[in-house]
Amino acid sequence: STAALAPQICVVGSGPAGFYTAQHLLKHHRLAQVDIYEKLPVPFGLVRFGVAPDHPEVKNVINTFTQTAHSDRCSYYGNVTIGKDVTVKELQRAYHAVVLSYGAEDNRILGIPGENLSGVYSARAFVGWYNGLPENRDLKPDLSSETAVVMGQGNVALDVARVLLSPLDILRKTDITEGSLAAIACSKVKRVWLVGRRGPLQVAFTIKELREMINLPGTRPLLDPADFTGLGDVIKDVPRPRKRLTELMVKSALEKPGEREASRWASATKEWGLKFRCSPLEVLPAADGKQARGIRMAVTRLEGSGESARAVPTGEVEELECGLILSSIGYRSLPLDSSIPFDSKLGIIPNSLGRVQGAPGLYCSGWVKRGPTGVIITTMNDSFDTAQSVLEDLQSGLLKLSNSKEGFKSVRSILHSRGVHPVTFSDWEKIDAAEVARGKLAGKPREKLVDPREMLQLIGH
Ligand code: FAD
Repeated sequence: STAALAPQICVVGSGPAGFYTAQHLLKHHRLAQVDIYEKLPVPFGLVRFGVAPDHPEVKNVINTFTQTAHSDRCSYYGNVTIGKDVTVKELQRAYHAVVLSYGAEDNRILGIPGENLSGVYSARAFVGWYNGLPENRDLKPDLSSETAVVMGQGNVALDVARVLLSPLDILRKTDITEGSLAAIACSKVKRVWLVGRRGPLQVAFTIKELREMINLPGTRPLLDPADFTGLGDVIKDVPRPRKRLTELMVKSALEKPGEREASRWASATKEWGLKFRCSPLEVLPAADGKQARGIRMAVTRLEGSGESARAVPTGEVEELECGLILSSIGYRSLPLDSSIPFDSKLGIIPNSLGRVQGAPGLYCSGWVKRGPTGVIITTMNDSFDTAQSVLEDLQSGLLKLSNSKEGFKSVRSILHSRGVHPVTFSDWEKIDAAEVARGKLAGKPREKLVDPREMLQLIGH
């Protein structure tokens, strides 16, 4: 009978979405086999390659993911790029259900002249660089200018500013790569502006990250009192998190600092500030025509209020001198192959509760399902929802269980015929142990391997 057949399910991507989807499926179906495919040799997506090195507590979710990977009914296959090494169609032939949770591999661009000048980087590449993402390991960002501008006012923008301004003693104890630590040690950057098109009531960062910035040793905030005067009345009616966040900005900008803070600010050698109502127009080239020397911005005013307020140019223009510009205006998902529905305007796979529209047996979770916003907990909840949809479809008979789906057995022969060697979870554990051992020598939690060839060599591939 089909009742005893184990559903073969696979998940594409080993970030939080992939792991939380797998966890929920394994927990609530006692026979399901879940295979996780990952294009990099190493797992965990943005938990490893996005989350800031000085936020080790956020990375504790890796313990839960590791438990999931240790289940008898879960397998991890790294070093396999879906869409290139194996197609989604091939996965669908091998599995009863395929869950796409491959995240957001690209970033939104500013779309202004000069964006390609040297000294201009996406925050995504910069974050990838300091976190050891193989594709960004050779970024070599130019840190020779005193002023950096981050376009964007979200948590990623604050991460980037914090890493640029943190005392080396703090960074040295994190899992930041040795190459980027060495570069930051020689950095001339001492001022970071975080620029937003709208006002203080529209910033996208959260209070914990702001507080961290305000308390960052060796730095002082540059907040223009004029930006914050009179906000007290407006925020009475806004939701509590926004209210508390705004109150903290208002306090820092308008109130006299306490004695300790005042002396810390007075002796600070670095500074960071928030610049509002400025929309980028052009990156200005230096005399050599190659290097960025500043950014020209349109001064804006707000039309409407609250979250939906729009920035409209006033006609005034402002220029800011800076040799380092990081655009932090959002990540972006890409379609995996043309056979899968994709909404390129929203940058997501169109779905209802994780069921990909018009594609039975195909599901999605995480950033590629919702868009690239939200913390790990948000991603966890939406991944549980998707897993629930799969379970319901199994129960209702919408997903027909048959012997003909062999799961990894058939994918293995496809990979073999194409010369692709998957990395297993125990392979990863060898890489992990090597990284931790290397880190120990330097007094860090780990020293990441940044070259996939070195990773593969270590496990004898
Ligand atoms: P991802 O984590 O991106 O995982 C996708 C995985 O799919 C990756 O491993 C990728 O390599 C793989 N993949 C891509 N394409 C393919 C393919 N073709 N075949 C196989 N595999 C593929 N949240 C917090 O709660 N706290 C924080 O401090 C925090 N900091 C952040 C800092 C940054 C810079 C960023 C960008 C995000 C941060 N977040 C943080 C948010 C959190 O990282 C996301 O909510 C979460 O990672 C999204 O999960 P995901 O699985 O959808 O995507």
